Amino acid sequence: MGVSHGARMGLDRMQAPSPTKSTHMPASERKTSTRIDRENTIDEIYERIYVAILEHRLHPGTKLGEERLAEIFGVSRARIREVLARLAHEQIVELYPQRGAYVAKPTIEQARDVFEARRLIEPAVLKRLIDTLTPEKTARLRQHLELEFDARRRDDKRAVIRLSGEFHTLAAELAGNSALARSMRELCMLTCLTIFLYDAPTASSCRSDEHTQIVDAIAKRDRARAEKLMSDHLDHIEHSLKLDATSTEVDLEAIFKG
Ligand SMILES: [Zn+2]
Repeated sequence: MGVSHGARMGLDRMQAPSPTKSTHMPASERKTSTRIDRENTIDEIYERIYVAILEHRLHPGTKLGEERLAEIFGVSRARIREVLARLAHEQIVELYPQRGAYVAKPTIEQARDVFEARRLIEPAVLKRLIDTLTPEKTARLRQHLELEFDARRRDDKRAVIRLSGEFHTLAAELAGNSALARSMRELCMLTCLTIFLYDAPTASSCRSDEHTQIVDAIAKRDRARAEKLMSDHLDHIEHSLKLDATSTEVDLEAIFKG
């Protein structure tokens, strides 16, 4: 199948460094050696494409032409290939021999897999976060809720989508397990692509009041309640999507006839 093949190609071509580690490095820690400069450029391009997909500016299935991207970012095609390989490694982009790179288009089956994986991972994130909770961590979560509220107030839909996903990634990062954080980041991106593809017309991504309730439970170190709220939250997102095959199957005959 296209996706697994694409992902495998990504793996073969490079061992992607953790994007969270490098992209969040403060400027003061950056060395001036050529090697690091080169990585920063790749990080920046990676981040710009990543955010464009996350904010639904780049649609699933969009072709990511090496030559055009190289022109846009003013770098070599080889560098763009490295960025695309990293995105493919995270299953955000699919690589096809001869045809090039495309923004991933998760199937219904893959979408269900993503929710199943999130149901396993998010309770582990909550447990670890509550076990290691500090006032600073709670403050970071509340700060993020403020950003979400603000984006909703401004009716900035792109920011709302991005921040909704980032809430879950932030929780995983604050939990302090880098492997969980990496998985969460990937799963949030796949959820985002899924919402894009299978969203019911009236649905939104995450309900912000649910994030607030989850943070309240975390702050009280009420693990059982936090887990229950998270499980309900994932149900709400999954049920707002049209993941039954019959409703998403396109009837080409009906479209082109008459
Ligand atoms: Zn959410």
